[in-house]
Amino acid sequence: MIARVIVDVPSRQTDRPFDYEVPEGMAGWLEVGSRVGVPFGGRVLQGFVIEIADSASVDRTRLKSVAELLDPVPPLLPDMIELSRWMSDKYCCSWTQSLQAMIPAALKGKEERQIALGDEESLDELPPELVDWMRSGDGLVKLDKLIARFPEHLRTVKLALRSGALAQLSSIKDRLSVRQVLTVFLPEPALPLEEALAQVSTRAAKQRVALMLMYERAEATTLQELAQQSGASAASVKALAEKGLLVIREVEKGRDPYKDRQFARTKPLPLTEGQQEVFGRIVDAMEDGQGRTMLLHGVTGSGKTEVYLQAIQHCLDQARQAIVLVPEISLTPQMVERFKGRFGNAVAVLHSRLSNGERFDEWRKIRSGKAQVAIGARSAIFAPFERIGLIIIDEEHESSYKQEESPKYHAREVAVRRAKQHGAAVVLGSATPSLESFAAASRSAAQAAPGAPSALLPMPHRVGGRPMPEVEVVDMREELRAGNRSMFSRRLHEALLERLERGEQSVLLLNRRGYSTFVMCRSCGHTATCPHCDISLTFHQKSRVLRCHYCGHAEGAPASCPACGSEHIRYFGTGTQRVEEELAKLFPGMRVIRMDVDTTGEKHAHERLLKRFGDREADVLLGTQMVAKGLDFPYVTLVGVIAADTSLHLPDFRAAEKTFQLLTQVAGRAGRHELEGEVVIQTYSPEHYAITTAQRHDYASFSAEELRHRSMMGYPPYCRLVLVTMSHEGLPLLASVSEQFAMELKELAQHQGVLAPLSTGLARALEVLGPVASPISRMKDRYRFQCVIKYRGSIDAAALVRQALRPFTEGSQQKGVLFSVDVDPQMIL
Ligand code: ADP
Ligand code: ZN
Ligand code: ZN
Repeated sequence: MIARVIVDVPSRQTDRPFDYEVPEGMAGWLEVGSRVGVPFGGRVLQGFVIEIADSASVDRTRLKSVAELLDPVPPLLPDMIELSRWMSDKYCCSWTQSLQAMIPAALKGKEERQIALGDEESLDELPPELVDWMRSGDGLVKLDKLIARFPEHLRTVKLALRSGALAQLSSIKDRLSVRQVLTVFLPEPALPLEEALAQVSTRAAKQRVALMLMYERAEATTLQELAQQSGASAASVKALAEKGLLVIREVEKGRDPYKDRQFARTKPLPLTEGQQEVFGRIVDAMEDGQGRTMLLHGVTGSGKTEVYLQAIQHCLDQARQAIVLVPEISLTPQMVERFKGRFGNAVAVLHSRLSNGERFDEWRKIRSGKAQVAIGARSAIFAPFERIGLIIIDEEHESSYKQEESPKYHAREVAVRRAKQHGAAVVLGSATPSLESFAAASRSAAQAAPGAPSALLPMPHRVGGRPMPEVEVVDMREELRAGNRSMFSRRLHEALLERLERGEQSVLLLNRRGYSTFVMCRSCGHTATCPHCDISLTFHQKSRVLRCHYCGHAEGAPASCPACGSEHIRYFGTGTQRVEEELAKLFPGMRVIRMDVDTTGEKHAHERLLKRFGDREADVLLGTQMVAKGLDFPYVTLVGVIAADTSLHLPDFRAAEKTFQLLTQVAGRAGRHELEGEVVIQTYSPEHYAITTAQRHDYASFSAEELRHRSMMGYPPYCRLVLVTMSHEGLPLLASVSEQFAMELKELAQHQGVLAPLSTGLARALEVLGPVASPISRMKDRYRFQCVIKYRGSIDAAALVRQALRPFTEGSQQKGVLFSVDVDPQMIL
């Protein structure tokens, strides 16, 4: 027996299967999808079995043997191996990268795996002599020992590992060891920052940064994280603790937030006529087994989630499994509660804020068949189910479904592919569908990509005839003319006061990306930039630390300009902090919860803040994009958008789409229950179509106008894009290599007869733009250049790029230039 193995080596030359002999005792265990250790170049490396064959493709006498089997139950299923192959072609990444993307992080570790007895009540599945033997030792054995001792029970052991009668140690080990974490606190009471800093030598810059970071966060943080962020060693953080400036304690790490919670069971609601219609279409698609994709375009509050729940029920009734993808940020207890409430323990939740061990536990519930519904962010699309009936992607327009590091896959597209393999139905749900999906579903002439739906299911009305909230647009230029220099318009100010008086709640959204958080000299215009990246440092007000958000570099903020010595330095705080201060000034006594990257860094902080708001411990929830998503609070009757159009003017062809989506989403947060809602949007561009259409909740007009623009400018969905970024420490070499790469690509396209500007109107055309310097022209001390490939028609652009890359990544041209390929990029900024 021969196993074909993809070995985990990140080099392109080795990105192909290697043959290994399977030793006698392992034969019954090895399957396609097994993870193994194999000898490779003098070491034993991890790999995945992608095929099992009778004969080797090379001389049998020279074959090496598989050294060990790493998991008793293969972590991947055969269809996922096929999917990984497709992904590496499609997204120009190595096969091993796409395989690694599919397994939980806890499996990637190298630690030894042992077997223990599982649940007491299922032990009678096991032969009594095996149970006795296990109990006679310390209860733990290595898998190969167990097999050697009871070769005749191989099948039983295998089944027991799936059913839980036998358990794998790794998760037990996590439970025992990973829980205690060294955690750093500020002492109580803490000295004011200046006095604390006075006790640290000015030469101990990193210690000072560590201290400032602690003051900035004002929350406990792990020692490891603090050391990482400040660049200080663990020893120097401990030195701060010895001075009494910080406190270090062992703390039990947070647990699964849902573990001890009881979820009230909910019953299916009788569907409205509109819901029934959509439900029927989804059921049809599930049953015909064609792997069809549909776009459910339903306004906020139209009852999409109830349709999802009942469609999932139908799927489970047929003994098939369901995957639900939601954006990470909407994976709130509110969302989880609705699924757990309906399906109880059949639901596994894959949340990035869980520890590796916790996530592994959830993953094993899926792999062992204990859970039939997986709900999670992007990577939950790889839930190892054997018979998928339904895949739901909620808020399908969200850019977080695209992974930004290799493999740069789009979960929507992977979902469509997986659904085809399983004959499952895919439902893309959104109140503001991406233009790609909308254009494809409504069969316009646009280019179908990625994961194009073929049918449109509309739900244009809210359940129970509740009206869409009234949206008022305030022209901030008028406010200025009327002498109002505050960041709140008179209307919003008044509306906030009304809510305070009535004891109702408000949500305030600040469009984060428009607000500057940097340091600038008013005498010479110098801005503080990262020494390793071509990017401004971000100023954190509370700690007075400057930080680079790309490489993590941190330094203390200067009191005078490093360029000209002037003391007229101007600090721009983060937008939300400024709004918070202004609120405190204008509305004394108002209780505000601020939710942004600074206040939600801690595990479960996001959930905690939302719970406090839900318990009405605050009058206002103030935040960035993260307050716009999926929240549903009955006492919220006002939504204010402080600067609607700051994202409109970004040099990104999706700027209008992003703005429209954001405004529509956030407006949907108001008045979802008995109390009527009101929305106030403040803007400097009240006439822009993204704003006027959002005001009228008019997706149809928005998409028509936006598609017209895209078609005129030659952007998706009227073409598709590939972005190739190249980087190197040396500028001249980078410039010449990227020039050669572009030439190579053009030659290949020419050869296929497709090289032509898109403006020629040919049905199949491809053009190469660049190379030019990337918008962030240097990152982590490497210069960056990029090429954008635009194409239309049936062209396998990824294959062209892979071919053009070959001489630069494995051939004679290899000179240390790193290439990164992004197929269908979300941003070409
Ligand atoms: P969406 O996901 O489209 O925003 P939801 O599923 O959250 O909408 O539904 C909005 C509200 O309407 C929820 O409070 C939900 O419980 C309620 N609802 C949904 N479907 C029905 C129904 N068929 N009958 C009564 N209430 C419903
Ligand atoms: Zn200056
Ligand atoms: Zn940097």
